[in-house]
Amino acid sequence: MKNTTGFNRQITQRWRPATQAVRAGTWRSDFGETSEAIFMTSGFAYDSAEEVAGRFEGVRPGFTYTRQGNPTVAMFEERMAILEGADIARATATGMAAMTAALLCALKAGDHVVASRALFGSCRWLMDTLLPRYGIATTTVDGRDLDAWRAAIRPETRMCFLETPANPTLDVVDIAGVSALAKAAGAFVVVDNVFATPLLQRPLELGADIVAYSATKHIDGQGRAMGGVICCSQQFHDEHLFPFLRHTGGALSPFNAWVLLKGLETLELRLHRMCDNADAVVAALAGRAPGLRFPGLPDFPQYALAKAQMARGGTIFCFDLGSRDRAFAFLNALELVDISNNIGDSRSLATHPETTTHKAVPPELRAGLGITPGLIRVSIGLEDPQDLTEDLDRALRAAGA
Ligand SMILES: *Cc1c(COP(=O)(O)O)cnc(C)c1O
Repeated sequence: MKNTTGFNRQITQRWRPATQAVRAGTWRSDFGETSEAIFMTSGFAYDSAEEVAGRFEGVRPGFTYTRQGNPTVAMFEERMAILEGADIARATATGMAAMTAALLCALKAGDHVVASRALFGSCRWLMDTLLPRYGIATTTVDGRDLDAWRAAIRPETRMCFLETPANPTLDVVDIAGVSALAKAAGAFVVVDNVFATPLLQRPLELGADIVAYSATKHIDGQGRAMGGVICCSQQFHDEHLFPFLRHTGGALSPFNAWVLLKGLETLELRLHRMCDNADAVVAALAGRAPGLRFPGLPDFPQYALAKAQMARGGTIFCFDLGSRDRAFAFLNALELVDISNNIGDSRSLATHPETTTHKAVPPELRAGLGITPGLIRVSIGLEDPQDLTEDLDRALRAAGA
């Protein structure tokens, strides 16, 4: 492998995000291929016994086994680390593998975790069901309320976990505010940055310690591959994350890493077009879709905070049709937008969170999160915004709105 500029931090850190997303982390083999090679291999062979012993000891560079590292996966990890401004990134098989590893790698029985209550449904399950099962206490708070975070943090609090904007109601959490409280208590802050992507929100610069992604969403962005990634400091990686990942084994497939590298190549282009489209569709539906919520709308309740910590409003909005029947009538009347529970795809997608992504959340908790029977979440893609507006407007009329 030729250690080309893609791995030269002095050069790649200087580049702007669009350049980093195309170029950072590119290694070339002796063939000089332009597009990254796919190393579909589980293991590696060595020139000598001394060589492999040195690699296992960590005194010689090189790969030993794909569960612990692979050239194609390493290219994706380096590109993500550079884009995020982190020391290091580690890829996982899915976004949930990333969230689980980011939490469990540094927790033990007797620790305490504070999390915002508006989380992706499976992250709620980690908080409410999995962590308590292992003797890790959890407290969930209204993430919008800094006083609630302050009141919940205890001496044994080891981590604060938050998602912002949150799925599906788009609640915004003050990353700098929570990070300052956590730092004073000696707790790590983990941010699920899926909705914003590294291009719209920079949690590490706001004081967070760990940023985790589902790469399945905007990073692939074309509905093809699952993946996850965790970005953090070298110290957190060496002490906590790497031992956990190498021994528990939620590794990303080299093929999927390659798909995700191709996704990153166009991320900046796609994301800004999708944001432009979301801005246009939301402007057309304002006053038309009841209870429309979008962080980029001036009447969004947390508009000032969203504007302060996000570069743009994002690609996702939601509204409330008042009942499940009307929500279903809306979805069933769509001609262009797909009924699908994914987000961040080049195809626009709409879903009914109550019966899909947040079905596992107990009904009484759902109501507190604003996940009402009439709530619809829309993820805007790359189609012409006029076609999208016409489709959504027609479906709203079919639903009696
Ligand atoms: C999708 C998603 C996840 C989980 O990612 P998978 O790749 O589906 O495992 C976690 N958090 C958020 C906010 C998500 O949207």
